[in-house]
Amino acid sequence: MRVAITIWDDRVSPVADSAGELLVVDLAAESIISRRHECFEDDSLFHRAGKLAELSVTTLICGAISDFYSSLVQGYGIRLIPFAQGQVDEVLNAFLSGSLENWSHDTRDHLHNGLERMQSRMTKYQYLFGPVPSRRLGRSLGVDLTPYKTCTQDCVFCQIGRTTNKTLIRKEYVPTSGVIAELDDWLKTGGKADHITLSGSGEPTLHSKFGEVLAHIRANSAIPSVLLTNGSLLNHPEVREAAALADIVKVSLSTWDQSSYGWVNRPHPDLDFKQSVAGQKAFRDEYKGRMWIEVFLIAGMNSIPSDVAKIATLAELLRPDQVHLNTACRPPAEDFVAPLPIERMESLCNLFRPPAECIADYKGDGSIEMQATQEAIISMLKRRPCTARDIAGAFAMHINEAPKYLERLLQEGRIRVKRTRKSLYYCAAPEKQ
Ligand code: SF4
Repeated sequence: MRVAITIWDDRVSPVADSAGELLVVDLAAESIISRRHECFEDDSLFHRAGKLAELSVTTLICGAISDFYSSLVQGYGIRLIPFAQGQVDEVLNAFLSGSLENWSHDTRDHLHNGLERMQSRMTKYQYLFGPVPSRRLGRSLGVDLTPYKTCTQDCVFCQIGRTTNKTLIRKEYVPTSGVIAELDDWLKTGGKADHITLSGSGEPTLHSKFGEVLAHIRANSAIPSVLLTNGSLLNHPEVREAAALADIVKVSLSTWDQSSYGWVNRPHPDLDFKQSVAGQKAFRDEYKGRMWIEVFLIAGMNSIPSDVAKIATLAELLRPDQVHLNTACRPPAEDFVAPLPIERMESLCNLFRPPAECIADYKGDGSIEMQATQEAIISMLKRRPCTARDIAGAFAMHINEAPKYLERLLQEGRIRVKRTRKSLYYCAAPEKQ
């Protein structure tokens, strides 16, 4: 028998839906034969349930769990023992002695209330999202500093859709005081994450006070901060000064000259590739923290080895601590963007110094994943109407990712919209006979 427990350090994770790690235990004749740890590398409940099935788990022991996730898990024929809590070894012993189900029943109401509190806590925030599981950053709390979708570029591979406000104007797009108040509330109410990441609906360095947000995180929390940036504004000294307040700065660099920059990143017309790279180099020379580079490769656009070697030469100038290679495994902004096969990605890693690591998620190509997620959303909406925010929360996706799925389902006539005074709800359309 193979039992999995969703864990947080050495305890059962209070909420299964957001647990990043599993303890997998093989049992025979009521004794433990082996135990090992596994991580959830994907951020949707659909894939989490699939991973349990792939691991041949027969019983899942967890804390509170949403109806939707439990139906996915049980759909794979996995026995579910929810509402367990405490040290992992105590819980395992209780399971082996046959007393766990009574015990977990006693804690059900308490934890169920906890889950509701947690869900309502995350849906009340306007500028925070997650924490979402991330392969490199663990559980990452996102901070969104720009309205959808405000960026200096309009990358063909962007996973949150086309840029609607392509700009170089730096200003306080969302009130810094509001962001800080939400962060304080999240920290005060016991928020836990491995990193706090400035990312979201566009380019965070466009926010004129992103440095204040980073300084506030540093002064009020021990959680390391991360800035995800396209690096296009690092030629401004004030942007470099603010960015240096992050513990990790991850810059994207996927092109090698102005033309390739034009067709892959579709920058604002006043952006100059050489100036941007010079700004990134100046930042590296001043910055004492960790600098990572993400290179996004697209089949037929920027992925032949001689072009990737040019990107690698530029990347080396920035003396990165890590280089990550990514490709379009999730639905990109443009349909013509195709992912690079994993063997091709791996063959390119050694062009970089230090050697790059492939972080693309190859569990399925974009269209298969989109189809699977659509089906899971429909199945959720058949049970109850949800807002886009509910759906983003259930699938651990960014709030701006949910509309991509909802729009397609609306076009296909598979869902419909219900308006209340306060919100827009989506529900499944009646099935055609
Ligand atoms: S990938 Fe990043 S830089 Fe490119 S358009 Fe999207 S948000 Fe902007």
